[in-house]
Amino acid sequence: MSSNLSHEWSGCFSGLLAGSRRQRSCQSVPLQEESAAPLAPQESSHGKTLPGEFREGGLPPPYSWTTSEKDHIPDVMKTIEDTIHGLDHELRQLSLDIHDHPELGFEERYAHDRLTEFMSSRGFTVTRQYLGLATAWRAEFRRGARGLGRIVGVNAEMDALPGIGHACGHNLIAMAGVAIALALRAALEKHDVPGTVVLLGTPAEESGAGKQILLERGAYKDMDVCIMCHPVAGDTLELGFISSLALQTLSVEYFGQPAHAGYAPWDGVNALDAAFVAYAGISALRQQIRPEQRVHGVISGRDWTPNVIPDYAKMSWSVRADAWGAVEPLRERVMNCLESGASATGCRHQVVLGERYLDLRQNPVLAEDMALAAQRCYGIPSYWTEQPASASTDFVPLPALHPIFNIPTPDDAKNHTRGFAQGARTEAAHTAALRTAALLARTGFRVHADAAFCARVRAAYEAGGAKVGGAP
Ligand SMILES: [Zn+2]
Ligand SMILES: [Zn+2]
Repeated sequence: MSSNLSHEWSGCFSGLLAGSRRQRSCQSVPLQEESAAPLAPQESSHGKTLPGEFREGGLPPPYSWTTSEKDHIPDVMKTIEDTIHGLDHELRQLSLDIHDHPELGFEERYAHDRLTEFMSSRGFTVTRQYLGLATAWRAEFRRGARGLGRIVGVNAEMDALPGIGHACGHNLIAMAGVAIALALRAALEKHDVPGTVVLLGTPAEESGAGKQILLERGAYKDMDVCIMCHPVAGDTLELGFISSLALQTLSVEYFGQPAHAGYAPWDGVNALDAAFVAYAGISALRQQIRPEQRVHGVISGRDWTPNVIPDYAKMSWSVRADAWGAVEPLRERVMNCLESGASATGCRHQVVLGERYLDLRQNPVLAEDMALAAQRCYGIPSYWTEQPASASTDFVPLPALHPIFNIPTPDDAKNHTRGFAQGARTEAAHTAALRTAALLARTGFRVHADAAFCARVRAAYEAGGAKVGGAP
């Protein structure tokens, strides 16, 4: 991976997602025991009929509660909540501790040690420095013989941003991951269900695509589903299920020949011209790409001065589309433009492919299960959109659930600001993260306990999600 791309912050879609969220009022209802009956359609704040205020902007497949839901879930939710409440103080300390020690991607050594120690002390089987990454780790709990039951994966991001610390709230993500894993273990034990929980410490989400490296090295290959959550700024209680774009970064260098720009320009080979010809080609290309696709980049150079023909230029580009399968042909069209700059000017050029972020598609069956539970347990509405946000994250091609939840921040400061970093250490953010963790643990448990539900999850993935994730 090209190190010159490391500053570009390709990942982390949440800041842009925050801007795409709709404003809505939220009416909280008292905590109530879950009912086995499906929610009656109700009038949403937008005047549409939505079960649990869920279907606006998208249409997950029809879904109804099953017998196993009736049998297991209410008791299981109590187990999950009791477990998380019992750990509340320790989880709060864990989150604040990580917040107090912000570390950039692939440098999350403090978080690595703190989190692996924590999981090890709770009886999980911990692998430190997992798969050759110094700050990746894996914590596993298994109930029953190996191969028995299903495997639920949970991601714990840990990285911060330069200068502004945990301004994306990954301390909350790490803590929520721990809470989900411990709650799932408690539920498997108490309700006697076989299965495995794998909590992955995933480095470098903001830049570096740590999960993609782990994916390519096999970290996700056995998982049936993978879940996590991410905070965004907001005062209302709500959950969002939003997809994100697939992304490829690349850079190109042009190598020419310097010459006196006035005295003998014919002796020169102009690398800056090569970059501008290529840029113009891409600008023309952008008029003929789909609305959800993006190609954006910058030109840089060295030792440029007007009276010397530049012999070096560099461009860095990002190519985004709603699915990885669409990124590849678009990338080839961009490469043709880069080539045209070289051939038009006689420069030599070299292209380096950088980070690759696969598209994130929320699994509609998992999402609807969580959304309905959020409404019933906590009175929290959810929103769903199949239109990807115009940003990317380094998620993995699996049946996945990656909700965003709101935390209050000073002046509604968005992700990647100092204000958001302040918000990420408040009691309110802590409570919101743990509430989301409880709901995710509940849906994760359902994957463990309900074979028919898991089959529907898989079928939805095969029908929609599988084609977009693509094989790495
Ligand atoms: Zn971020
Ligand atoms: Zn983030």
